[in-house]
Amino acid sequence: MSLDLPTIGCRTTPVLKERGQREVFCGLTGIIWLHRKMQDAFFLVVGSRTCAHLLQAAAGVMIFAEPRFGTAILEEKDLAGLADANAELDREVARLLARRPDIKQLFLVGSCPSEVIKLDLARAAERLSSVHSPHVRVYNYSGSGIETTFTQGEDACLAAMVPTLPASTARELLVVGAMPDVVEDQCLSLLAQLGIGPVRMLPARRAGDLPAVGANTVFALVQPFLGDTHAALTRRGARHLPAPFPFGEEGTTAWLRAIAEEFGVPRDLFEQVTAAPRARALKAIATQSQELQGKSVFFFPDSQLEIPLARFLTRECGMTAVEVGTPYLHEGLVGPDLDLLPQGPVISEGQDVEKQLDRQRAAAPDLTVCGLGLANPLEAEGHTTKWAIELVFTPVHFYEQAGDLAGLFSRPLRRKAILRKEAAE
Ligand code: SF4
Repeated sequence: MSLDLPTIGCRTTPVLKERGQREVFCGLTGIIWLHRKMQDAFFLVVGSRTCAHLLQAAAGVMIFAEPRFGTAILEEKDLAGLADANAELDREVARLLARRPDIKQLFLVGSCPSEVIKLDLARAAERLSSVHSPHVRVYNYSGSGIETTFTQGEDACLAAMVPTLPASTARELLVVGAMPDVVEDQCLSLLAQLGIGPVRMLPARRAGDLPAVGANTVFALVQPFLGDTHAALTRRGARHLPAPFPFGEEGTTAWLRAIAEEFGVPRDLFEQVTAAPRARALKAIATQSQELQGKSVFFFPDSQLEIPLARFLTRECGMTAVEVGTPYLHEGLVGPDLDLLPQGPVISEGQDVEKQLDRQRAAAPDLTVCGLGLANPLEAEGHTTKWAIELVFTPVHFYEQAGDLAGLFSRPLRRKAILRKEAAE
């Protein structure tokens, strides 16, 4: 049941490592999709007004419609006295939990200001957990922009939960990474049709559904940015199933196949279950990828999805990758995608933004995938760009979303072509 691998992929390609100025969002951004996923969780950012503004701007109207995150503002007086900051945090949490009995999991999310004043949120979480347990479990993680990129917020959040998960000796599959409920349901349905179960999810929709973990747990990641969560689960004795990530028809099939092999699913059952959704995915990709055929793409490091997406765009949409930049390259996670990515592109890790902009301008790619901060200036120079952040806010995993995923990349090219045509008329 092994895949037809290309003879030479990018796993052994020397990686260009850069350490310089970076242009990325901070890890607080993850709260936007995590709060939708975990329905009885509350995310309390211990930060400044800047952090509150970032959340409001990123979340838009959501903050009013469904307030399950907020900010405990560190005032200037807090910055002068840690005792005040701790007492204020305890009061804020007590007020919140008294008002909101629906909250079962509370995340204290660290920020640049809380890190700068060295507010010990781990100790605060322990203190508050003992006060508010068993009704509420209090966790902490950092979403600070000093050292994190925007998808690391989810990684830090899930990694913070792993040590507190109950122990289990059951042989179970754990699927790790937040997906919209509709996509998660598709994933669970495919696994159920293959006869694989029980399947647990991290994060779970509710605290009561949190998985147990142990030496007989095998886990599959659906997001490539979960390096710390991977390490935390491995420390609990769980075993990772390396596989390409479930983007596109090929990635989804390879991801499912790795699990099917682990659980001894017969080949004909695998073919029977996947044949129809594979055909639908291939058809949708063919329609959506017409503008992408023969075009070049350049990835700035941002979401950590870059390597699996480059694999999808080159192998399934006919694009050529010029450079694939990623904030961190974790071979244990993206190795199977590197194996499939045809040799040719520069693989870069980290960022020195000016040098990378020089390379991008010299290459003049048809499409540039980058963060919000770079997109506007590059568009002004006439480049066609795609914001990486949209890839995390949009359902893109598994067969039924494969066409939409290709569409996310073809839309900016189509828009540019229309604008050019209008300008010429
Ligand atoms: S955590 Fe840091 S980077 Fe993020 S919004 Fe707050 S101050 Fe800005």
